[in-house]
Amino acid sequence: MTSKKDFVRLSVITGPSGVGKGTLVQKLRSLYPEVWISVSATTRAPRPGEIEGENYFFLGNDRFKQLVDTGGFLEWAEFTGNCYGTPRRPVEEKLQMGRPVLLEIELEGARQVRKSFPESFQIFVAPPHFDELERRIRGRATDSEEAIQSRLDRAKEELKAQKEFDAVVINDELDATATELGQLMGLQ
Ligand code: 5GP
Repeated sequence: MTSKKDFVRLSVITGPSGVGKGTLVQKLRSLYPEVWISVSATTRAPRPGEIEGENYFFLGNDRFKQLVDTGGFLEWAEFTGNCYGTPRRPVEEKLQMGRPVLLEIELEGARQVRKSFPESFQIFVAPPHFDELERRIRGRATDSEEAIQSRLDRAKEELKAQKEFDAVVINDELDATATELGQLMGLQ
């Protein structure tokens, strides 16, 4: 029997803010250079050290809305007061070229992708403990207390949705978790 991972080229990683998805995705990129990782657009302000076009495309609200209205996003969602979206064209191009594509997005976006790409492989990254998640979210000194609370509330909601996913991976040790993800996605 063929398992889902044998033919799927579009994978989605979702998990609560602070679970370490970003670091995990970078590790995955270094272990499996064949995978193409989508760069999202966002209306959130850049954090120190974030680079335009590498971490995100940082857009104003008007430009973001224009792209929503013209179908420029494969999916998009609002997350704690800002908008985030996956530019459609680069993803479609890479998939057409047969390259494995990975989206690192939040829950609402993952649900939209599930509808438009039912064959996508959806992975949920969970923390070993909620306390650890809170510690990491609070550790981002650049976020206001309001933003922190909002991310913690959203994290609780996202954790409840784990069962909707094809696989749940617990991020307890970076290298091992990245390797597990690569294997689940059928990467080499
Ligand atoms: P952050 O502000 O911490 O970079 O990201 C906040 C949340 O937005 C994270 O859960 C991240 O996965 C999610 N996110 C990043 N890019 C996208 C996107 O293109 N679409 C959606 N739906 N969520 C995204």
